[in-house]
Amino acid sequence: MSQHTTTNGELEFKGYAMHDASKWTDLKLTSFRPKTFKPEDVEIAITHCGVCGSDVHTLSQGWGESKLPLVAGHEIVGHVTRIGDKVTEFKVGQRVGVGAQIASCMQCRACQEDFENYCPDEIETYNGQYDDGVVTQGGYSTAIRAHERFVFPIPDEIESVHAASMLCAGLTVYSPLKTYGCGPGKKVGIIGIGGLGHFAVLWAKAMGAEVYAFSLEPEKYDDIKQMGADHVIDVREKDFAKPFAQMLDLIISTADVVNGKLPINDYLSTLWVHGTFITVGLPDSNNPLPSLHPMQAFAGNGCLLGGSHVGSKKECLEMLELARTKNVRPWIETLPMREAGKALMNVKTNKARYRYILTQDIN
Ligand SMILES: [Zn+2]
Ligand SMILES: [Zn+2]
Repeated sequence: MSQHTTTNGELEFKGYAMHDASKWTDLKLTSFRPKTFKPEDVEIAITHCGVCGSDVHTLSQGWGESKLPLVAGHEIVGHVTRIGDKVTEFKVGQRVGVGAQIASCMQCRACQEDFENYCPDEIETYNGQYDDGVVTQGGYSTAIRAHERFVFPIPDEIESVHAASMLCAGLTVYSPLKTYGCGPGKKVGIIGIGGLGHFAVLWAKAMGAEVYAFSLEPEKYDDIKQMGADHVIDVREKDFAKPFAQMLDLIISTADVVNGKLPINDYLSTLWVHGTFITVGLPDSNNPLPSLHPMQAFAGNGCLLGGSHVGSKKECLEMLELARTKNVRPWIETLPMREAGKALMNVKTNKARYRYILTQDIN
C-alpha cells in the first residue's frame, strides 16, 4: 500500500495544481476527483513525472485557455495499485508508465491500425475531459487511472527516473525516426537540442544513423557531441546549410519557439532527393512556421514536409526495448515535485539539461 491513502484504504488523488493562469508557475497542493474506475482500468500510485514543454505551453495559456484548476504532467511512472476485472496486461505492484494520451475511441481506423495517437477522439492526459465529464489531471500528483491500452510496462533494467521522460519526449521523436526510416546508412538531422532533441540524437545513434545536430546554443556543443552526434552545426552562421546541400535523408525539427525566423528553406536544401522534414515542435498559437514558396522550398530536391504527434503504444514498447537493449538513458535533473514551478520556469527559459524529473513528495 502506498502512503497516499485515506483512512478507508482508498488512494487519495492530490496534485500540484494551477488555480490562476496569471501565476502559472504557482502551483498549490489540491485534491481532485479521478475518473470513474472501469473494468479495463489500471490505477497507478505515481513516483516520478517529467516536465514537458507541453506543460509550459498549456499552463502559460500559449495554446489557448486551459481548464482550472489544472494539474499538468504527462511523463508518468509509478506502481499499479489496483486493476479492473478485465485488465489482462498488468498486475498490482508492477512498475508502469503513462504518457501524453490517456484515452481514445478504440474503434476508428486509427485506433484499429495502431495509430491511436491520431484518433479524432483522443483524450489528452491533462486538460482534457473523460466521457464521464471528469477533467483529466496529470502527473504532478499522487495517482492516475487509465485504460490499460494507455499504460506502458517499464522494463526492469530501466530505472523509473530514466523511463519517465521517454513516455512523451522520447516517444515524440522515436515515432518519426522509426516511421521515416532512420537506421544504418542514413544521415539524420536534428534541429534544436533540448528535451526532445537530445532524445532524437540518442535514439538516432542507437538506431545506427549518422547524426547531424543543428543548434544555436554553443554552450551545449560539448554535451551534444557526448550524446553521440557525429556533426554539430552552428546555425547562427550565415550559409550554415551550404556544406550540407542534398546530403540528409531525414530531418526532425524540435524547434517550438520559431518567431517566424526558422531558416526552413536552408534546412530543406540539406535534404537529399525526396528527403523528409518532420516537425514535432508545437509552438504557441501566435508563433507559426515561416511562410514558404514552393520554388525555394521544394523545387531543388522534391523534398517532403510534415509533422508527427507523440506515438502509439506499439512504438512506445519498441522504444523501451531499444533503450533496454542499447542501454540508452536520457540526460536528466531531478527535483522534488513541490518544485514543479521552478522546473517549469527553467524549461521556459531554456535552462533544462535536458529534462526535469519530479520525484513524489506528497504525503
Ligand atoms: Zn479512435
Ligand atoms: Zn509532452
